[in-house]
Amino acid sequence: MADPIARLDKSPPIAGRRAIRRLPEAAVNRIAAGEVVERPASVVKELAENALDAGARRIEIHAERGGIARLVVTDDGHGIPGDELAVAVERHATSKLVPDPQDGVDLLNIHTLGFRGEALPSIGAVARLTLTSEASGAGSAFRITVAGGSVGPVEPAPRIGGTRVEVCDLFFATPARLKFLKSERAEAMGLTDTVKRLAMAHPDVAFRLVHDGRTLLDLSAGEGEEALPRRLDELLARGFIENSVQVRAERTMEGFLPLKLTGYAGLPTHARGSSTHQYLFVNGRPVRDRLLQGALRGAYADFLARDRHPEAVLFLEADPVFVDVNVHPAKTEVRFRDAGIVRGLIVSGLRHALGEAGHRASTSVAEFALGRFRAGGEAVRPAGLPGLTRAPYLPHPAEAARAGLEDGRGGFEARRPSLGAPANDTEEPAIPPAPAGTDEDTGEIYPLGRARAQLHATYIVAETETGFVLVDQHAAHERLVYERMKAALASGGIARQALLMPEVVDLGEGEARALLRHADELADLGLVIEPFGGGTVLVREVPAMLPRLDVAGLVRDLSDEVSEGGEALSLRERLGEVAGTMACHSSVRAGRVLSLAEMDALLREMERTPHSGQCNHGRPTYVELARADIERLFGRR
Ligand code: ADP
Ligand code: MG
Repeated sequence: MADPIARLDKSPPIAGRRAIRRLPEAAVNRIAAGEVVERPASVVKELAENALDAGARRIEIHAERGGIARLVVTDDGHGIPGDELAVAVERHATSKLVPDPQDGVDLLNIHTLGFRGEALPSIGAVARLTLTSEASGAGSAFRITVAGGSVGPVEPAPRIGGTRVEVCDLFFATPARLKFLKSERAEAMGLTDTVKRLAMAHPDVAFRLVHDGRTLLDLSAGEGEEALPRRLDELLARGFIENSVQVRAERTMEGFLPLKLTGYAGLPTHARGSSTHQYLFVNGRPVRDRLLQGALRGAYADFLARDRHPEAVLFLEADPVFVDVNVHPAKTEVRFRDAGIVRGLIVSGLRHALGEAGHRASTSVAEFALGRFRAGGEAVRPAGLPGLTRAPYLPHPAEAARAGLEDGRGGFEARRPSLGAPANDTEEPAIPPAPAGTDEDTGEIYPLGRARAQLHATYIVAETETGFVLVDQHAAHERLVYERMKAALASGGIARQALLMPEVVDLGEGEARALLRHADELADLGLVIEPFGGGTVLVREVPAMLPRLDVAGLVRDLSDEVSEGGEALSLRERLGEVAGTMACHSSVRAGRVLSLAEMDALLREMERTPHSGQCNHGRPTYVELARADIERLFGRR
């Protein structure tokens, strides 16, 4: 019998078909480059990651014209021996995976940023690459060039104490790609962002980025615990550290190293209009991962409106065996063995950290407030009139005595009733004897101070030890009601109170029917309604935690919400809105005059309640002005 393969060899040609061939190495590299090297930022990322993998302590990046004309990355890492330069620019050649005779390589145990052995050949395929390196201890340096895929000889080079990779004319060999690039400015921004992200993950390494002769980043190497906050302070918008909470959470897992989450999460009141200020890392690798982004959103769902995004820098450390980084050539996506555990750790870790922050609202709120204040006489005051002295800070003792004041502070308190404290509130002592911001019996310090006055029946003014606090009573109360409801639901349900006189509310046929469909859910939330015929409902019981409730107003608003929200989400899932609506119709809404005792009670509850620094939409519930800020307003500092 004839050899079938031999017969196959002589297969006749088929019209319209060409034989299958292996592509030349240069073409293969160019195709691979399509995924690895998308823009100048990807070149910087690959080269800087190589430097980090080589143990560099200092990385310098020089870019020209958005990195398209020229990009040079220099490091002081361990370098490459001359006899390995040629293989370093070959595809799938790497020092980072050790082949094992049994099952090839272990792709599920990666400890380096690189491992695919694709970066250098890919860059060499689409640009002109010169790799110069001095291996530590070698005492001499060598160089190799790859231009558009053609590899030159290895040559001796001047010593450089590390590695230097120069990339010129990016995409000269694939002009189609050039057309997809953005403006030089945009590419420069892109590569700056890339360097920033890597620099955040490696605060112990010095980074310098120079673009068209301008130094964009110059970061010295940090040491120990302080390195990260210092680096973040240098890299992020001012105030991020002060307006964030430190995150530290850990979960142990059977058979794996523990999963760790560290970093900083911005306070909800410091949220941004887009998610570009979220920096996520897995094992020191900057990633853009949907699972992680989703978990971050989930953790803040309670505090932020849908179009607001938290600022955050989060580092997830996982057992390399627990993560798969070999998802995409650019290595910005990862897969976890168990996504649920990762999500759970992020959500609970962040919630816990934000809970610890308690009633804190961000300092940026106060800064903003300060910016809006203007000195009263500013417009008419003759600026810098010679011989004019500053008004004394405290009234002269004699003057104070004439005015019937004991000291400077008395002035504010003496005028208190005219600032809006209710005149009918007779039990209230005229001047609280306790010092500002403390409890008179225990001397305990109240962070939100003691209520001194109410303004416009809407804002509470409280004096603290170090300044004063202005509380939006409505926003604060809304948040408190929400937190009370959440706590009640978590511990067995919301207590109800029967109305002495059940109330009939007229909603109209359709609306009444729609609302009654939610009767069970509403009962769980503390509101018991039943049909009463003719488009009306009867309200029998209300949540006990809401005294002086405007029942009819509440039921009408809830009915509107039910018809607007459709049936997609249960009321419980929309607890934030429901609680907000309930709060709107209870005692502390905007426009209600409060007694000092009521105001103090609200302040104390805010201090006890987690997340009370922001309302259900992430807006602050109070602003705080330090005495120093007040003094600055009056030009005393
Ligand atoms: P990978 O990083 O995936 O291994 P690359 O193509 O980026 O693949 O690099 C190939 C090899 O060249 C690396 O494995 C490393 O041994 C060496 N190399 C590249 N850049 C450097 C550098 N800056 N310092 C030391 N060695 C380097
Ligand atoms: Mg690499």
